Amino acid sequence: MMRAGTPRECTRLTMESSPKGHTRLNETGTLPTESNVVIVGGGVIGTSVAYHLTKLGWKDVVLLEQGQLGGGTSWHAAGLVGRLRTSNSMTRINKYTVELYSQLQQETGHSIGWKQVGSLIVAKSEDRMIQLRRTMAMAELFGVEAHLISPQAALAKWPLLRVDDVLGAAWLPHDGKVIPKEVPVALGHGARARGAQIFENVRVLGIESRNGRVTAVKTHRGAINAEYVVLCGGMWTRELGLSCGVTIPLYPVEHHYVVTEPIAGACDELPVGRDPDLCIYFRGEGEGVMLGAFQESSKPWMVDRVPEKFSFQLLEPDWEKFSAPLANGKHRIPALAKCKFAKFVNGPESFTPDNNFIMGEAPEMRNLFVAAGFNSVGIASAGGAGKYLAEWMQAGEPTLDLWSVDIRRFGPWANNRKFLRERVTEVLGLHYQMAWPNREFESSRGARKTPLHDVLARQNACFGSKNGWERPNWFATGGVKPVPEYSFGRQNWFDCHAREHRACRENVAVFDQSGFSKYLFKGPDGLNVLQRLCGGEIDVPVGKAVYTGMFNARGTFEGDLTVIRTGIEEFYLVSGTSQTVRDLDWIRRNLRSGERADLTDMTEACSVIGIMGPNSRTLLGRVCDNDLSNEAFPIGTAQTLEVGMSTVRAVRITYVGELGWELHVPASQAVMVYELLMGAGRRFGVVNAGHYAINSLRLEKSYRAWGADISPDDTALEAGLGFAIGWKKDGDFLGKAALLDQKQAGLKRLLVTFVLQDPGPVLWGSEPIYRNGLAAGYTTSGSYAHSLGAAIGMGYVKSQEGVTSEFIREGRYEINISGKRYPATPHLKAPFDPERKKVLC
Ligand SMILES: Cc1cc2nc3c(=O)[nH]c(=O)nc-3n(C[C@H](O)[C@H](O)[C@H](O)COP(=O)(O)OP(=O)(O)OC[C@H]3O[C@@H](n4cnc5c(N)ncnc54)[C@H](O)[C@@H]3O)c2cc1C
Repeated sequence: MMRAGTPRECTRLTMESSPKGHTRLNETGTLPTESNVVIVGGGVIGTSVAYHLTKLGWKDVVLLEQGQLGGGTSWHAAGLVGRLRTSNSMTRINKYTVELYSQLQQETGHSIGWKQVGSLIVAKSEDRMIQLRRTMAMAELFGVEAHLISPQAALAKWPLLRVDDVLGAAWLPHDGKVIPKEVPVALGHGARARGAQIFENVRVLGIESRNGRVTAVKTHRGAINAEYVVLCGGMWTRELGLSCGVTIPLYPVEHHYVVTEPIAGACDELPVGRDPDLCIYFRGEGEGVMLGAFQESSKPWMVDRVPEKFSFQLLEPDWEKFSAPLANGKHRIPALAKCKFAKFVNGPESFTPDNNFIMGEAPEMRNLFVAAGFNSVGIASAGGAGKYLAEWMQAGEPTLDLWSVDIRRFGPWANNRKFLRERVTEVLGLHYQMAWPNREFESSRGARKTPLHDVLARQNACFGSKNGWERPNWFATGGVKPVPEYSFGRQNWFDCHAREHRACRENVAVFDQSGFSKYLFKGPDGLNVLQRLCGGEIDVPVGKAVYTGMFNARGTFEGDLTVIRTGIEEFYLVSGTSQTVRDLDWIRRNLRSGERADLTDMTEACSVIGIMGPNSRTLLGRVCDNDLSNEAFPIGTAQTLEVGMSTVRAVRITYVGELGWELHVPASQAVMVYELLMGAGRRFGVVNAGHYAINSLRLEKSYRAWGADISPDDTALEAGLGFAIGWKKDGDFLGKAALLDQKQAGLKRLLVTFVLQDPGPVLWGSEPIYRNGLAAGYTTSGSYAHSLGAAIGMGYVKSQEGVTSEFIREGRYEINISGKRYPATPHLKAPFDPERKKVLC
């Protein structure tokens, strides 16, 4: 394998001397041979994990760093620390980090240079102003103080700015900055004061395990047996994972900033500034200015392996790549045109395929935890990431909804180096690209294609990607190109979506749902296990299909699935596209010793073709000989049908609220079955439909979506899914006690479907909901309900005084869309009833 710096891979490394004043925390003496926890990596993340585990009272915590603390990526970060992120959980992580940093010096005696200078985001386009208004509205709900201010007010805060082309700015007074290299040192001090042992210059060479459980780390100074191992190795973590069969998809990318010599008017107290339209950030650095870039396209670090010795090192300056941000910087801060530059930082750091970091227990190995891939927010997120990872280790499960960063969202497909190298070129820049609704990645597409992909592409499918799968989002008709044109309003596919939505309501539509996760669960104890893990009654006759949630001990969702009993001891399970690894892990980890039940992933083996709509029975009847009447094939049941030369599992179930079947077809026969269906349906106008139609159709029926409307933060009662719980079934199920307690205590939040009264706007999710003029929640998903003629969304309405159906009905609601409030009608039942084909208001 080639190394960095060899003629073929010609990246040159430059050495920076170890920063002055770097305090060594080196533990002298020999390494222990046993420990409760070994943390690999002494960057800001590893030290934060050590700090928080010891804060929770964990003993025997050892941290191993191959170089010196903070010498990997953390030391050369720009030090920006913002509190507001795009979700509640991520904002909680960053808010906690700011709390921690503001008192860390007091606690540890080591200064991290925390300065609450505030931050400023300027906007120079109308679309960016819309995005800022949306962000400001959500900030209020997340408890982050933020104000929209004028260009002149922005200038007053950053007097060196040029603002003649600025339309407005966001001001976040509680944001700040740190001296990044000092943070790991201070956290290390805190951890050591509570008993952690920290060893520098110790390289971990491998991870050992027995029976799927971690047992030890091997180092060049001997092995340490350990109950828990936490991989916090920054950009080295993927390789550590590969060495022990654990999927940790991340890859290093070059990230650039420069620091000027002193400039008149610059000072260290200037706020952190961001101009996302120009892809730059800036702040005061002493008497100079730091200017950094999040360019639309970045450079992956082209190394076969990240070099072992890369402590306090940087890559060569790349002025050519930095020329565009530099020109933009000179535009925004004219004083930069005349100054000299004292420093160019070209630091590699790790990025993940979806711009969210990677946390949690590896599904491949018990007690092996990971916190890595921090996508340029490692300094700002380290406090919260360390705290919630430590809590996760203590509780055995996350203590808040961390699904967006959960390691189980990726399968091995995402760990391919070619895929990663191409994807990360796009990821770094995403921080400043417009956060368009339904924005899709453009790089590394086509990693997973369903058998129908090419057939559907020829019919103008516009694909999105979910868990790597290419899925048709919509089909272009009427002269529209199958390429999304993004906006916060109606996008170019609005009419195509309307056509597919109505076809499904009024006629019949065919959907490629092959990305669904599918598993076979088989064995004498299969029923008992499912009864214990699922809220619903699973002891049903063979052939019955049950929709159910799976809960944790807190009674909140770990997943939802459809369980089809295919035999006395055999079940076929179906869940959402993104849930595969998570479900497999959840079920396997909850198997008790000695229980006889095998779980097999069938996702790649089976395709799913949905036939939905009032004419679906007629259509299916043309390609098979079976009796499909209500009596012979009732709703919520499954049968084997012969469709052409294929034997398929047909499940009469619907996520769109229409008569319909999901056909689970061997992948090799999917095209044949699809072509038979389309051929037979041509005479009555069958249409292809995509996932955007599924979303609007299911919202009209108030069906919940995992990861959006139901999550590990929500219970089935809060989600209005109490009816799907088998309260009276034999035996206990996980989460039952918590749910019963909640039932008795009453709810403080409830999921409600909202339909706007104005037919014009569109809902996307993440819009604030007001009840009687006061903020009461935000939308968890949204779309346009074409059968109702208005936008539709769902969201939890909260009240500390308690939430009942009367409370919901008695309120007057508005939803804030890009700064303007629109009246909305609340629904606790589906707003659309396909039986009566009328709107329930
Ligand atoms: C130019 C630049 C600017 C940035 N600006 C900001 C910013 O303003 N705000 C912000 O929030 N983030 C910023 N970041 C991102 C931030 O620096 C990272 O997200 C963060 O430092 C990651 O911390 P870490 O602990 O995961 O990784 P690291 O700091 O790299 O720590 C990992 C450690 O693990 C050690 N290690 C690896 N493998 C082994 C092994 N086998 N045995 C023993 N030790 C091992 C390494 O030596 C290393 O010290 C910036 C990054 C760059 C490059």
